[in-house]
Amino acid sequence: FKRVTDESAILTAAPAMKARLLANENPFGPSAAAKKAIADAMDLSYQYAFSAINTLRGKIAAYEGLKQSNVLLASGSSPLLLAAAMHYSKGGKNIITGDPSYDDLPTQAEHFEGKWVKVPLTSDYKLDLDAMEAKVDANTGLVYICNPNNPTATVVDTEKLKAFCERVSKKAVVFVDEAYIDYLPDPKGTTLIGGVKAGQNIIVARTFSKLYGFAGLRCGYIVAQPETIRTLEIYTPGWAGLSSTTLAAAIATYQETDYLQDALKKTNASKEYLYDVLKKEGYTYIPSSANFVMFPLKMDGNKFVGEMMKRGVGVRSWKLNNQDWCRVSVGRMDEMQAFADAFKEIS
Ligand code: PLP
Repeated sequence: FKRVTDESAILTAAPAMKARLLANENPFGPSAAAKKAIADAMDLSYQYAFSAINTLRGKIAAYEGLKQSNVLLASGSSPLLLAAAMHYSKGGKNIITGDPSYDDLPTQAEHFEGKWVKVPLTSDYKLDLDAMEAKVDANTGLVYICNPNNPTATVVDTEKLKAFCERVSKKAVVFVDEAYIDYLPDPKGTTLIGGVKAGQNIIVARTFSKLYGFAGLRCGYIVAQPETIRTLEIYTPGWAGLSSTTLAAAIATYQETDYLQDALKKTNASKEYLYDVLKKEGYTYIPSSANFVMFPLKMDGNKFVGEMMKRGVGVRSWKLNNQDWCRVSVGRMDEMQAFADAFKEIS
């Protein structure tokens, strides 16, 4: 798979690390209820998971006040980003994204004739919605909004984004990737799913990989108009991509408030600790609305990542405004301490 082969050294070495802070995973998950559901589902795992698929779609639809026909499941949100990339780049259409933003969808689009239009972030590292809207024209296939944005962990103003979607979705489909929305104080008040309810031509993507701790279990979904769901489903393996044990776990843990709040509390405590370490070492950072933090480095990014890796700490680096940055995922407290020890040695 493309990203693993491209970055095999860093991603495949990861399980042996002291601190795995490179893929924005949640080491506090999955929940006890999810793990029990997997064990309980084993006896019937010789069966195809047809009914569990509709149970989970029904649960999501009921929570969001939508119909099952508005929900498409896949083994994580990545296959759904790929489906959108394939469909909306057909015929050489433009895919508009922030820069930097999560690059999976536009990178995939380029494999299918899509043209990637990158719009720089604002001076406070947020998606520049006005500049993105100005790029929309007759050749636009899709506008990709990652909110919170990866790698900057910034959010745009909710009302502004709602108004943006209402206007822009009349000209091109807007894809809102809400992978990290569960880390915000009020996901229900911040989500753009209301736009789907209002009949807009938008697609909202969610994943269990982040706060639910399912990155290795694989479950994600999109919410959109039924016609869009039917179109994009053709590009996915459908039921063949879904495992009965993962579905059982997702059904057990979906909107499991106590678990989610506890994981969020632990994440925020680790994040505060990380902020303190950075401040004490004389570094700044972009205040984070997700489970990762970007900060400007004082050395070459590749060298920094390599030196941290030698000390058993996996992080990633980015170039932004001619400056090298580190993106560090927020892990358990022992992992943040390992980060701090290594960081003090080389910073
Ligand atoms: N969207 C964003 C913004 C991400 O950061 C990621 C993973 O890191 C994904 C989507 C894909 O996640 P998954 O396929 O595990 O749902």
